[in-house]
Amino acid sequence: MAVVGIDLGTLHSKIGVARRKGIDIITNEVSNRATPSLVAFGPKQRALGEAAKTGEISNFRNTIGSLKRLIGRTLQDKEVQEVETKFTHAKLVDVNGTVGVEVTYQGEKATFSSTQVLAMYLGKLRDIATAEIKNTVSDVVLAIPGWFTDIQRRAVLDAAAIANLNPLRLMNDTTAVAFGYGITKSDLPEDPDNARHVVFIDMGHSSLSVAVAAFSKGQLTIKATAYDPHLGGRDIDYALVQYFAEEFKGKYKIDVLSNPKATFRLYASAERLKKILSANTEAPLSVESIMNDIDASSKLGREDYEQLISGVLDRIPLPLQQALQDSGLSLEQIDAVELVGGSTRIPAVRAKIQSVFVGKALSTTLNQDEACARGATFTCATLSPVFRVKEFANHDTTHYPIKVQWEPTPGDGEEETELVVFPKRNNVPSTKVLTFYRKEAFDLQALYAEPELLPGSINPWIARVTIKGVQPNEAGDFSTVKVKTRLNANGILSFEDAYTETVEERDEPVPEGAEGEAAEPKKKKYSKKHTLPIVAGYGGTLESSVLNEFKEKELQMHENDKLVQDTEDRKNALEEYIYDVRGKLDERYAAFVQPEEKEKLLAELAQEEDWLYSEDGEDALKSAYVSRLDALKALGDPIVTRWREFEERPRAAARLRESV
Ligand code: ATP
Ligand code: MG
Repeated sequence: MAVVGIDLGTLHSKIGVARRKGIDIITNEVSNRATPSLVAFGPKQRALGEAAKTGEISNFRNTIGSLKRLIGRTLQDKEVQEVETKFTHAKLVDVNGTVGVEVTYQGEKATFSSTQVLAMYLGKLRDIATAEIKNTVSDVVLAIPGWFTDIQRRAVLDAAAIANLNPLRLMNDTTAVAFGYGITKSDLPEDPDNARHVVFIDMGHSSLSVAVAAFSKGQLTIKATAYDPHLGGRDIDYALVQYFAEEFKGKYKIDVLSNPKATFRLYASAERLKKILSANTEAPLSVESIMNDIDASSKLGREDYEQLISGVLDRIPLPLQQALQDSGLSLEQIDAVELVGGSTRIPAVRAKIQSVFVGKALSTTLNQDEACARGATFTCATLSPVFRVKEFANHDTTHYPIKVQWEPTPGDGEEETELVVFPKRNNVPSTKVLTFYRKEAFDLQALYAEPELLPGSINPWIARVTIKGVQPNEAGDFSTVKVKTRLNANGILSFEDAYTETVEERDEPVPEGAEGEAAEPKKKKYSKKHTLPIVAGYGGTLESSVLNEFKEKELQMHENDKLVQDTEDRKNALEEYIYDVRGKLDERYAAFVQPEEKEKLLAELAQEEDWLYSEDGEDALKSAYVSRLDALKALGDPIVTRWREFEERPRAAARLRESV
């Protein structure tokens, strides 16, 4: 069984695997350590990751990215409507109350929910890992944004289930970075009261995350978190594209933004320019034949660039200040500031960070691109039985306060109807027992207490539970009902259990043979638990029938992708054989073939070649390519065998001589 950690990035995802000698970030089928977070649909099959990226410009209407931006959202979510549509070219539609995508797949219109699309992508990451480690991949730790809510987390778990993955943990990505940092340090303070405080800042493609962590020997405690869920490199790219599109209107009289392909190409060039500007004070931009056969070019200096993106830069300090303030630490108590994420390479971003952490060195001791995947993989190793990893405790916290609400009981004078059960910065995982006085069945609801903190228009409602079987107590009065609520290690809330307790007093048995005066038998209190039936419903989780249907569909699409790929491979094999044998008939095989045999084979090769390039041969079944190749081989292989035997003979003789 493999141990795998995944950093699900907006732009790229990274996969780590644990091996005896340590953790490796693995490469995909084209040897890249990061795989584009893209899914595309084609006339025959899907294209996932690199293949989707390769075809993105020509197939943009059927290519979908922003997978983690869309998961767990509705189509109406204002962030989907106002922000994601800026970065998405496929048609977003409603699929059973969640946002989904309408595409042309295998020549027909098809819709898939964001959960299904994420599942497709996770399946690709699973296949990359499987190919690399040649072992079944099931147990994984998935790093997700700490700002994900219950409904988003549940949707990620559903997507993982559809992809046949078993997430041992959904891990807040900045916590994963901190975990990877801590577990490899051997010099952490013994005393938790004297912990080392490190601020981790991750600015990636679409969001900014901050975590203030305290490290002491064997443990990590997250003291505070803060986010700007939509602040990242893509906002900078967007600003650059708007700027150059405006410039080109005047300069070349073209409207780049009216042409999706031209816009794509401008984005690619703008990103390149952005990266150059991280290391240089000026950068050129050029897009050959951007549209209407015009080669567009321009340049930008650092100062103008920083001016242009000041709207993005100015939003950086707030979450940093919030995290520091919430941590209760002063600037002096911060021992290090660690930067990860591609966008922290931008000098102006660093300057903004520096403006909050005045006088502190900004360090990049971690691999900026891979620290998160490493931390997730370390965590997977600690949770999996496969490896023995040193104990390193992870005390994470919740970011959004959660409250429980109830209907008041008539006549009991109870005024409160809600309670914040898991306040902000509550430990995760955590279990709380709530006490109610009731005579009959009652309902509870769990909701996020401060909906304005949630990303976009995410519904603050989390769950409802009905506690059944409640009776008045023996005196006909209110029974004491306890309800167990749990925020699990994935940051997901559930109502676990409900029960009443009756307390009985029983005589404590007097030990036999006790000496001295006969003591009064002692009374001891025994509490007896009576479990009550509960029925709970949670927002977001797919019904098991739907989940199974999605699993089945995914399996079929995966099989189909494989078949299309195999067919393509068989077709290539046939083509290769034709050219290979024909080329060698006049050379290598010349002495081993009879004239009429050669003639026949050449005729067959020519016939198969014609067929390959005919309409039929262009797009045939796998079995057709296989049987045609077999037929050619029946003619060609005897020749090849004769040649090989001849080649082998002196070598075999030499071997024989040596062994005598
Ligand atoms: P997120 O964490 O937001 O989901 P991600 O993990 O995919 O996204 P990263 O890989 O951390 O994001 O960072 C990608 C972003 O960093 C892109 O916008 C990319 O253009 C930007 N980036 C990478 N290198 C540089 C650089 N040298 N200068 C400026 N920006 C850079
Ligand atoms: Mg990231």
